[in-house]
Amino acid sequence: MRLTETAWTDAEAADTDLAVLPVGSTEQHGPHAPLGTDHLAAEAVAEAGVAAYDGEVVLAPAVPVGVAEEHRHFAGTLWVSEDTFRSYVRETIQSLASHGWDHVVVVNGHGGNVAALREACARLTRDGDAYAVSFTWFDAIDDEILPDGVEMGHGGPVETSLLREVYPALVDPERFEDARENGATTWGEWQSGTNLVYDTAEFAENGTVGDPGKGSDDLGEQLLADASGKLAALLEAVANRDQE
Ligand SMILES: [Zn+2]
Repeated sequence: MRLTETAWTDAEAADTDLAVLPVGSTEQHGPHAPLGTDHLAAEAVAEAGVAAYDGEVVLAPAVPVGVAEEHRHFAGTLWVSEDTFRSYVRETIQSLASHGWDHVVVVNGHGGNVAALREACARLTRDGDAYAVSFTWFDAIDDEILPDGVEMGHGGPVETSLLREVYPALVDPERFEDARENGATTWGEWQSGTNLVYDTAEFAENGTVGDPGKGSDDLGEQLLADASGKLAALLEAVANRDQE
């Protein structure tokens, strides 16, 4: 049940305590992919996972702005502080729980949100407001489906392929070469296990990390199927969990 398209009277009749909240980011993804990549991907995985799950789930609208100050040098990038983001997510989940949907899976599409989401979900759970966990789709996928040399990166082959599957018109393959040539091959600048830099612009001229050309439509299809299957299994586990 997508809340955005549902009348409150039908929402009231929903016979479930399970809800999904997609969260993403609005941030640069190189010259070849849109600023909305992370929240569009989170929303698509959330929808497919809910569809694959055998039971009723309340699907909340996606949170489109997250913790993304590391991309601040690139036009169009939006961000909020971790404090603001945690509060926003926590209060949104509290409002879901107030209607009885108090088993909540956050479906995340942005690496920069991970730590804040873990903390927000733990706080809600420990305080007894809701049982909440966060699922980051690209951390959940099986490495075996990735061809040799394909890594996550940023605007790289993994997320670009997923986006090609769900919003093909928003990806420009003619810019893949530029993305690779003026991007970086690894995230950050490392010394003794420590990343020396904070902002993407310090190591990737156009913001891309990895070669989006190493992905494919076929990989996008597999990624969506795998991520949504993993989410459906997680929904099952969360639904059946007797959380104190
Ligand atoms: Zn991304």
